[in-house]
Amino acid sequence: MTAATTPSAAGLAWAQRLVRFNTISRESNLPLIECIADHLRTLGVPLRLSWDDSRRKANLFATLGEGKPGGVILSGHTDTVPWDGQAWTVDPLGADLRTVAGEPRLYGRGSADMKGFIGLVVAQTQAFLDADLPHALHYAFSYDEEVGCFGAQTLLADLAEAGLPKAALPRLCIVGEPTSMVPAIAHKGVARWRCCVKGRAAHSSQTHIAVNAIEAAARLVAGLADMADDFAARGPRYAGFEVPWTTAAVGVIEGGIADNVVPEDCRFHYEFRALPGTDVAALQRRVEDHAASLVPAMQAVDAATGIRFETLCAVPPFQAALDDPAVRLAQQLAGTDRTTLVGFGTEAGLFQSAGIASVVCGPGSITQAHQADEYVSLAQLAQAEAFLQALARHR
Ligand SMILES: [Zn+2]
Repeated sequence: MTAATTPSAAGLAWAQRLVRFNTISRESNLPLIECIADHLRTLGVPLRLSWDDSRRKANLFATLGEGKPGGVILSGHTDTVPWDGQAWTVDPLGADLRTVAGEPRLYGRGSADMKGFIGLVVAQTQAFLDADLPHALHYAFSYDEEVGCFGAQTLLADLAEAGLPKAALPRLCIVGEPTSMVPAIAHKGVARWRCCVKGRAAHSSQTHIAVNAIEAAARLVAGLADMADDFAARGPRYAGFEVPWTTAAVGVIEGGIADNVVPEDCRFHYEFRALPGTDVAALQRRVEDHAASLVPAMQAVDAATGIRFETLCAVPPFQAALDDPAVRLAQQLAGTDRTTLVGFGTEAGLFQSAGIASVVCGPGSITQAHQADEYVSLAQLAQAEAFLQALARHR
């Protein structure tokens, strides 16, 4: 039997339908969630929604085979990154089919990351139900992954609150992020903070009564650059990552109002992309200790000055053993003995932290994700569909 090179009409139609929803993280994802929920309700699949604070966004958690033990989560995020300023030659929401370089492709924002996968999963629902699996199957479709995996945290908290009996807790999770259908067993974590420095403004000729917020921030930024150099020169190594050490980077800085005013405020954002096994809290403590060492001199001028930190996102690193049950299952379903590492963060670390063995495996390549003219090849969608069909047969 030769492998199919295109997915089923129903699978492709669902992938296209989902791409046509604008679910950039800053927009509501409810129309997309309602579209999937309606379909699942028609098939009699019980589901729960969990919401963000604004109730403009929801996660969908559905269970096929309620009451059956354990089971497998198929997980994907419904939000996408924006396309502002990118040079698209197709409509990002058009879900166009085009053949380029002899390869039939589905184009559109989210086609690879990761509406292609979610669409195929939804399209398989009837087949999963008909398969009468010995265990449950769960769909976990989240919001706000691209801005810090916030939806999946709410979803997991909601499940904990639901108080599922232990036997009904999902055992495995497959996160369908684009890995070209090779099971990925590790990724770095992403921990991002905002640092806000409160100084004291004065005429720039009166520095003796001022506290310069930019200068204090600059010392911290330089400290972060030193940490980054240290990681690169002497830090732990994890072979297989494109950058096999922990990185630190400042992404945004703002401060000052005029050339002749000592700035009162400065804020900057920075992140660590930490190798699995890294104590990220200890890295952050080093930054906060550095900040604490600057504060006495600032407060000697004005007690109202100071430095504070806010967490922007905390996506835990992910690492699975080669004999991890989720990895073994993904290899079996994909018909491969390969594994890979990925450079991007996913929700897999969160599911793993919740005690659910996880793996990342999905159609398309991360090189196309987040780019102009994002696409997924129909051959990749066909491979992912075969993976899901193998799951329906798996005993
Ligand atoms: Zn993604």
